[in-house]
Amino acid sequence: MNGPESLRQASQNTADNTASQVATGLAKLALVFRHEAWQATGEHGLTPTQAQILAVVAGAASPIGLSGVAEQLAITAGTASAAVSTLVEKRLVAKKRSKEDARAIQLTLTAKGKRIAASAAEWPETVLAAAACLPDREQAGLVRGLMALIRELQERGSVPTARMCVGCRYFRPNEYPGEAKSHHCAYIDAPIGDSDLRVDCAEMEPASADLAPRLWTLLIDGKRPEPSGSRDAAVSSGA
Ligand code: SF4
Repeated sequence: MNGPESLRQASQNTADNTASQVATGLAKLALVFRHEAWQATGEHGLTPTQAQILAVVAGAASPIGLSGVAEQLAITAGTASAAVSTLVEKRLVAKKRSKEDARAIQLTLTAKGKRIAASAAEWPETVLAAAACLPDREQAGLVRGLMALIRELQERGSVPTARMCVGCRYFRPNEYPGEAKSHHCAYIDAPIGDSDLRVDCAEMEPASADLAPRLWTLLIDGKRPEPSGSRDAAVSSGA
């Protein structure tokens, strides 16, 4: 059913309607990303998956193997294996045996692979320019909203790994109440604001199972992790 009646019915259930509008908006953005990704990676003769693998290997905080790549990109081991084989043939990725476990294969980038990974990791200019046009408050709100959505998807098992502030042992939400930069990142030992929150930070280290769920609640409740004055509380309990 289309027209005013369907719009009226949809507006009667605001929660469902808003959720579907969010999903529709994200789907439109995904189309833009897919289009831009094919254009950018096509210049190098790569598929978007192959380019994403280069970016994942380049951004890995520790040596990564096939299963790690598959997990981060939420693709099957077979898909990851086929894409990596192609990247090895193109001399963009090399395989080597782990020093700790001779049965484990680790992936590294060749010099050419590193160059392409750097450009693959760049976000499409059109999307960046559009995001940069938003007022600071809207950008910060968007970051928090995206964090909430990614976290929810992660809890439902749809997002494999998320290197976000709200799961990081270095994150201290609401450390400076009332300030523009109200949180603290112990990794850089500096205040950070909502617009500085990261949804994919290479320096992120997971907080303990006890602290991780509390960080999110504390962030949205505007509270600090531990009794006031204890700046090391989050880190000490998350270590
Ligand atoms: S290290 Fe990265 S993820 Fe952790 S609090 Fe700092 S900015 Fe956030």
